Amino acid sequence: MRIATSEALYRRACQLMPAGVNSPVRAFRAVGGTPIFYRQGQGSRFTDVDGNTFVDYVMSWGPLILGHAHPEVVEAVKKAAERGLSFGAPCEAEVALAEKVVASYPGCELVRFVSSGTEAVMAAIRVARGFTGRPRILKFEGCYHGHSDSLLVKAGSGLATFGTPSSGGVPAALAELTVVVPLDDEQALEEAFARYGSELACAIIEPIPANAGLLLQRREFLARLADLCRASGALLIFDEVISGFRVARGGAAQVFGITPDLATFGKVIGGGMPVGAFGGRRDIMEQVAPLGSVYQAGTLSGNPVAMAAGLATLQVLEREAGWEKLERLGQELELALLPILSGRGQLVRLGSIFWLYLDTASPAPRRFDAIAPHAAERYRALHRALLERGVYLAPSAYEVGFLSLAHTSDDLAFTAQALQQALAEVYW
Ligand code: PMP
Repeated sequence: MRIATSEALYRRACQLMPAGVNSPVRAFRAVGGTPIFYRQGQGSRFTDVDGNTFVDYVMSWGPLILGHAHPEVVEAVKKAAERGLSFGAPCEAEVALAEKVVASYPGCELVRFVSSGTEAVMAAIRVARGFTGRPRILKFEGCYHGHSDSLLVKAGSGLATFGTPSSGGVPAALAELTVVVPLDDEQALEEAFARYGSELACAIIEPIPANAGLLLQRREFLARLADLCRASGALLIFDEVISGFRVARGGAAQVFGITPDLATFGKVIGGGMPVGAFGGRRDIMEQVAPLGSVYQAGTLSGNPVAMAAGLATLQVLEREAGWEKLERLGQELELALLPILSGRGQLVRLGSIFWLYLDTASPAPRRFDAIAPHAAERYRALHRALLERGVYLAPSAYEVGFLSLAHTSDDLAFTAQALQQALAEVYW
């Protein structure tokens, strides 16, 4: 693997940006070495600036459900761009994408587009507080909901990666309003609701927690959460930024048959462009300005180019029965990797989301503090050995992998072979 050009770029970048990056996990701190600079992606693979090619399982952290540079998405973006990059005014594409979201997602009657998952969640929390008039929110340990102040408390993603589960710069007075409970623990949940229930504006959860590994939840746990919310008058928010339009047309809400009051989206609905959205029950969403008193706005919200990318992505997914295909591909990945991992680790998977967990304890962790610390140590060495063999996994043991419709049986066989060789080289 050649690395000289990435190294030179990284040296330049480090003079200019904190750790040379614009989002922490990209810096490769958790796995060591120099971040790989992408030059070009096509389908399931990308080529870096040194000319190495990799099978990509990061896929921009989830948005690229059709693979890199899908021709229909690129064409839709080009056409939209030719008509104008941004209007800051209503456009047809946002109506079409809103129709898709409302038609697809359980209980979603009104939706508003923003430009990132963080924004979507931040706004949804404000709406919940505005609607209920209550101050506190409840979240789960290890769930990541973007980087707005109230949610950087015991969070996942980069915070899990770097072992600093809460962020500096968040005033204690604000953090105190965030009640944090472990996942998969009905008793802790009941205690939290008994103590704070009447003050809770909402409970927010990744129904498929995918930011501290993949901590698959029992349906009964989610159902209990929904019941406690209903009984206490707190709104239930599903953060479907990763799972929305990925695990099913109707996201985790459809998979579990549980309808939240509000939901947040991002990633797939933007098809690789900066898009987020929040939506839900009409009476709640009518609190949003200018109908109601909860202010929320955005210069680039509903951007015509971004809307076109999202729309094209959802159209291809629907036409090609994408969710069924992704499930079959996930099963194939499992079949290919499980025998190789045997005795060394496991593959936790739901549809096209997977987590390589390098520990054999059964069942796989369902809560953050059940993740064995040595799994991250093992991952560090394995990550490097896989990179050397042309397989690009997320540069952190706490991040999941993503399959896209562009991944092929050949890619999976290539990955299995690389894993076999890499495991032979790495000891624990
Ligand atoms: N919620 C979840 C569940 C996420 O996984 C993420 C990002 N990975 C976010 C919110 C924040 O989204 P963004 O990075 O687009 O701000």
